[in-house]
Amino acid sequence: MSRESYRIACIPGDGIGKEVIPAGQTVLEALAAAVGNGPGGFDFRFTKFDWGGDYYRRHGSMMPEAGLDEIRDMDAILFGSAGDPDIADHITLWGLRLKICQGFDQYANVRPTRILPDIDGPLKRCGPKDLDWVIVRENSEGEYAGVGGRVHQGHPIEAATDVSMMTRAGVERIMRFAFALARSRPRKQLTVVTKSNAQRHAMVMWDEIAVQVSREFADVKWDKELVDACTARMVNRPASLDTLVATNLHADILSDLAAALAGSLGIAPTANIDPQRRFPSMFEPIHGSAFDIMGKGLANPIGTFWSASMMLEHLGQPEAARVLMQAIEAVAADPALHPRDLGGKATTAEVTRAVCDRIKQPPDAPSAPPPKGGAAGGRGVRQPVQP
Ligand code: ATP
Repeated sequence: MSRESYRIACIPGDGIGKEVIPAGQTVLEALAAAVGNGPGGFDFRFTKFDWGGDYYRRHGSMMPEAGLDEIRDMDAILFGSAGDPDIADHITLWGLRLKICQGFDQYANVRPTRILPDIDGPLKRCGPKDLDWVIVRENSEGEYAGVGGRVHQGHPIEAATDVSMMTRAGVERIMRFAFALARSRPRKQLTVVTKSNAQRHAMVMWDEIAVQVSREFADVKWDKELVDACTARMVNRPASLDTLVATNLHADILSDLAAALAGSLGIAPTANIDPQRRFPSMFEPIHGSAFDIMGKGLANPIGTFWSASMMLEHLGQPEAARVLMQAIEAVAADPALHPRDLGGKATTAEVTRAVCDRIKQPPDAPSAPPPKGGAAGGRGVRQPVQP
């Protein structure tokens, strides 16, 4: 069997992205040494790109004009964050992250949420098994299509529009992806999030297409929920949800709520997927640049590690993804290894070292206790193959 050598573009970006992405590389290297060794194994070739706020200060753009061509042939992208206190948010977002997502048509944004063992979330009555969701966000159009404009700028009659653009092709492909993902999970259950009571054009089409696509997935149980009611359901009846699909804006908001309910923004991962695999997909923690803690060694790297585990699933290394997820869960289960956002004192370096140590342990080594709630927690997100 030949050995796989994955080319990974690392884009740390801004703020704590510069701390968590190197930590992610360290963990992936430990994993390649421990799990990817031998015939049929794998390793990584990382290439770093210094795009982001500092690049903008030097060059006037967040990334080079032809930057997409530099990473087009990579197997995957590991991304930190984009955001800078001195640069407008719409410039940092559109100039880097969205440029990559849209340029590579990464139309499915996948955000798993679970309460990891021994993480103290705000839903006190909710156990790990009651909150196990995957939110699928439409990532290429809708409210963030960039359609709109401003006229009469600075004058009293100034006007501005942001038009939500939904296409039949765009909605069909994300519905199909979400139904297929729901089918691949044990409960085979999908909630289609909508707002068709108030938005009576695009969201009505969204609902109609959900009904049409559902006919291809007779074995998937599905329901429809208004986005406002969905926020209440996430808090009051978390176990009634499994896989969710929502528009770009709705899912953006719901997934931050999901991350907070699971304990911290610092844990949550996300994947921007091109299901047809024409382009590299991009994996990133959902938190932003968090300049308030930058350079202090306090950033929680778990969101990046979990994103790396999703990347391994996507690259076709489910065993490595499982080993990494188990290591993450074992470390999360030890309060002495909780960083500040989880109420502890551990540093980025200490959490990274602990995850690497756990990875290096042979599978039956007795030293660390298994996390409560089951060690076999590596329920990585299987990405369904798109027709
Ligand atoms: P951006 O403007 O780039 O979206 P932000 O600075 O608003 O990002 P967020 O990532 O949204 O920051 O996080 C809000 C706060 O949560 C941060 O200011 C930080 O204190 C905390 N936080 C976020 N991610 C982490 C992390 N990985 N580790 C520790 N604390 C975090």
